[in-house]
Amino acid sequence: MKKLFHNAKFYSLDKSKTIFDSVLTEDGIIIDCFLGTPKIVAKKIDLNRSFVYPGFIDTHTHSFEGGLYSLAVDASKADKIADLLDLLAEAPKIGGMIFAYNFDENNILEQRFPLLKEIDKIFPDFPFLLRRIDGHSCLINSFAFEKITWGKNIPIGFDGVLRKTHNDIVAHWFHRNLDNESIIQAYEKAATIAIEGGFTTIHTMIGDADNDALHFELINNYKKNLPIEYILYPQIFNIGKALELGSNRIGGCILADGSFGSYTAAISKPYANKPTEKGILYQSQSFWNKFVEEAHNNDLQVAIHAIGDAAISQILSAYEKAQVKNPKNLYHQIIHNELNTDDMIERMQVAKVSAVMQPMFDRLWGGKNGFYRKVLGNDRAKKCNRLRTIYNKNILLTGGSDWYITELNATKELHAAINIHNENERLSSSQAVELFTINAAKLSNDSSRLGKIQKNYQADFTCFESEISDSFKENTKISHVIKKGILLK
Ligand SMILES: [Zn+2]
Ligand SMILES: [Zn+2]
Repeated sequence: MKKLFHNAKFYSLDKSKTIFDSVLTEDGIIIDCFLGTPKIVAKKIDLNRSFVYPGFIDTHTHSFEGGLYSLAVDASKADKIADLLDLLAEAPKIGGMIFAYNFDENNILEQRFPLLKEIDKIFPDFPFLLRRIDGHSCLINSFAFEKITWGKNIPIGFDGVLRKTHNDIVAHWFHRNLDNESIIQAYEKAATIAIEGGFTTIHTMIGDADNDALHFELINNYKKNLPIEYILYPQIFNIGKALELGSNRIGGCILADGSFGSYTAAISKPYANKPTEKGILYQSQSFWNKFVEEAHNNDLQVAIHAIGDAAISQILSAYEKAQVKNPKNLYHQIIHNELNTDDMIERMQVAKVSAVMQPMFDRLWGGKNGFYRKVLGNDRAKKCNRLRTIYNKNILLTGGSDWYITELNATKELHAAINIHNENERLSSSQAVELFTINAAKLSNDSSRLGKIQKNYQADFTCFESEISDSFKENTKISHVIKKGILLK
């Protein structure tokens, strides 16, 4: 059926930056774009004077966790332990287990995690998991502790709180033990949240960041039933498995280092407030060289989590080696890419690497009294989230929320990119839009069907109630979301 979308401004993002007045679609594809509104036989869809951009794409999410935790308890709603325990006591079970997330002990009156005995009292006989806000530590009850197969990694002196490897084992065990119905329920919920946040396509990481691709196959088969498009990443180190799954890419938040919040992000000079700490490189250079080279030679796009300059430099070296030996346009991803020197940005350009960055990290941790400044000092804080410098170098730069870490919300992500604390690193509004449209499409090799409003492109639109300008407001509403010609919001 032909549909004529009209009464709106359509930002084509084509070379001449044409703004159309109406767009004709058929079977989910744009078949014509018009200046003015033609008199033709088609179902007319009035977009109420909205400002229409190509469907927004978030290029880095953990949608399963995001969806799952949206069904679970939001621990940030409690400001003391007693309130948290009350919230937990009323929590719904998901697949026979209780999940809570977004916990930050710094925002709790007692400045601590709940005690094991407090948790065991309310949850004596089924598994319970509370995740810290950064995902790098968690709390479980004794029942879960007994059930988990620890192998040689059994925690010594277990008191409920677990970090690093133990944290990973725990998250993996809980995710592994969910039934298919709950997993699909999590993705359905994630799709609903993505639409509400203004997205028509979402890149999502699936796997335990080790060797288990978890429910990749289940979702790969099921994704056609979801209202938005999912671009899946087998978040594993097993190249044979990624190829067997038919994936064009491998990785995601497979870790080169940890996070600034837990002082595990690997940096070349010590932390400003912890002069003996420089973070942790989780793997050796030779490990990454071998992994990247093998993936590269098999035409897999590689994606790796790297936050501190030492970790980014390590991953860059592996990408450089593979690219020099065998040049390709795979745009291997440095995910997060937070602390960058000029020299490293230069190297990224030469090695044709992409930067998949989170403008919202600056919103959360940038600025004068921000966390970056506290842990890195002023000079290095200014070298965090360098969107403009990277954009100006013609490096493929895309935006992602890292949801569930930050909100899946197109307006907020755009606003953060346009208003980076360091004025030198701010993007213009049109550059910020590119991150989530044209550039995102290029990242997944979908430039011929996504990222523009143009003939023969997919009819994916994100409609805002006002124009995306440099004075764009943080609370600008998403008025409509259209995927393959279907009005979803
Ligand atoms: Zn991530
Ligand atoms: Zn990550």
